[in-house]
Amino acid sequence: MRIVLMGPPGAGKGTQARRLAESTGMKHLSTGDMLRAEVAAGTELGLLAKSFMDKGDYVPDSHIIAMIEQLVDDPAGILLDGFPRTIVQAEALDEALEKVGLPIDKVVHMSVDTDELVLRLSNRAICKKCQTPYNLISNAPSKDGVCDNCGSEVIVRDDDKPEAVKNRMKVYEELTAPVLNYYRQRGNVAEIVATGTPDSVFEKLSQAIELTQSAG
Ligand SMILES: [Zn+2]
Repeated sequence: MRIVLMGPPGAGKGTQARRLAESTGMKHLSTGDMLRAEVAAGTELGLLAKSFMDKGDYVPDSHIIAMIEQLVDDPAGILLDGFPRTIVQAEALDEALEKVGLPIDKVVHMSVDTDELVLRLSNRAICKKCQTPYNLISNAPSKDGVCDNCGSEVIVRDDDKPEAVKNRMKVYEELTAPVLNYYRQRGNVAEIVATGTPDSVFEKLSQAIELTQSAG
């Protein structure tokens, strides 16, 4: 199966994608995680990517496409999270999938109210070292700014800071909404409302994908 998971930053795509990958064996391709790994490794792409991400801007299409193209024909199936975010990326993905004869089975759109998103994102924090995620309201580290898991510093990522969050929302609206319309024209978009507990969202997501399988 090839699934595309879409939704604004903070909709919980990463959490749900990891769960879905675990339960189905599909390969989870997160462009965000892949880029952050490049940043952490200090590669040329990583340094370039960081300069965009710190401002809340998107990394240029050509870099992302090159990173994804070599992974689309994974026999386990792929679950794309955070890609495609632009029409150019969507077209490049179609081209890459056409080459290997594997179309997208389903695009799942996770929607969440804008105010709730800004609130969720501005409370998000992460351990600088072991990457354990925290929420400063609902899942704060027991000692302020210190990771429960490894004792390193817990930080709010630059791209989760309020100004960058606002910019990400704006960029999302401008660039990604057209991608949804692109897929809607094919009729393979499933809409789910991603509010509620992670369990209930996962249930909706599983249902959305099972529908595809039964529809052939
Ligand atoms: Zn840690």
